[in-house]
Amino acid sequence: MSERETATSDRDASGEGALPWLAAPLRRTLETQRAHALLIHGPGGVGQFELALALAKGWLCEAGDRALVDRPCGHCASCKLHAARSHPDLLVLVPDALRESLGWDLGAGEVDEAGEGSKRKPSKEIRVEAVRAAIAFATTTSARGRGKVVVVHPAERMNEVAASAFLKTLEEPAGDARFLLCSAAPESLLATIRSRCQHVVLPVPPAAEAEAWLVRHGVAQPGVLLAASGGQPQAALDFAERGIDAAAWLALPRRIAAGDASALQGWGLAAAVGALQKICHDAAALACGGATRYFPRERIVSDGNLDRLLRWSRELARVAAEAEHPWSTDLAIESLVGQGQEALKTPRSRGRPREPLSLNSTG
Ligand SMILES: [Zn+2]
Repeated sequence: MSERETATSDRDASGEGALPWLAAPLRRTLETQRAHALLIHGPGGVGQFELALALAKGWLCEAGDRALVDRPCGHCASCKLHAARSHPDLLVLVPDALRESLGWDLGAGEVDEAGEGSKRKPSKEIRVEAVRAAIAFATTTSARGRGKVVVVHPAERMNEVAASAFLKTLEEPAGDARFLLCSAAPESLLATIRSRCQHVVLPVPPAAEAEAWLVRHGVAQPGVLLAASGGQPQAALDFAERGIDAAAWLALPRRIAAGDASALQGWGLAAAVGALQKICHDAAALACGGATRYFPRERIVSDGNLDRLLRWSRELARVAAEAEHPWSTDLAIESLVGQGQEALKTPRSRGRPREPLSLNSTG
């Protein structure tokens, strides 16, 4: 088993190595669930997927001697099937591109969206074929007699056609299936889907709990990476697993202010833009007399010129929206860092003005 797999399987929300902050929301949701469709939402890096899996495990658990709120038991036949990713009454819909990072490879009953042996690039979407297969799954009889569960993660990755097909199932539920939708961007779901779900809000956990969990995963100075990820522990662990440690994060604002684009080498465009947005946010917050959020305030190097910072912020937002654009990542990062240097530095040391990157540049 690879290190990565160890980390992800360890994130199962119930049993050994669980995400400790999910225990209370799990119990509460088992207690209060009344709709056949639940929408779990909140920040992305706090365990929505794991909570959905734990709820499914709880509903399907066959420990007759336990109250529902005390499930899953982790020992019954159903819980063992769940742990082996082969429960016949559970179907998990995730984009192919996310399977590996979620530790959810194709198992029995799962839909291979790309088709067997396909050389297609893994899809970032949940396609209508997969949703149709899930609907068919939901309408057949439960194999073990405790109903069926469909998990959709992240729900906003259903494209328009897929979402419409899914909505029909919510409007006219057939069989005894329950649906669990996860989303960090519920506002981008169809309003009609949102309104048919019982909402479960999963907020960022208490910092002490998150830090203790990060320490158990070998993360040094967990408070730094937790702040870096806006309090989302899974996102903080992802930082650490990608080799971004506390020292690298703390050094970032100074390096960007110096125009050093190599500080973001190998990050990928989306992650690099995300980090630059955090520097920009904190510099702008300081310029307005506010508090920093992602970096300790003494790490932010900026002369506090709000106009320049807002210009940089707009450019970062524009590129973030186009992060899927097939342009040269290196070129885009270099340009954004150059603009950051402009935005952060004192006027005395400002260099040559940089042109904004053209959207048509494919490098
Ligand atoms: Zn069980």
